[in-house]
Amino acid sequence: MSDFRRFVAGAICPECKARDTIALSKDDQRIFCIKCSFEEFKQT
Ligand SMILES: [Zn+2]
Repeated sequence: MSDFRRFVAGAICPECKARDTIALSKDDQRIFCIKCSFEEFKQT
């Protein structure tokens, strides 16, 4: 489980509109889509 990716439940990708494909990066600083190239820095 060392490379476990945390998915954001219920999130819909703004790019490809796929559901449950948004995951958090390891360092928690970015969210990205596993289906397309969407990537965004998390705002807190
Ligand atoms: Zn996407």
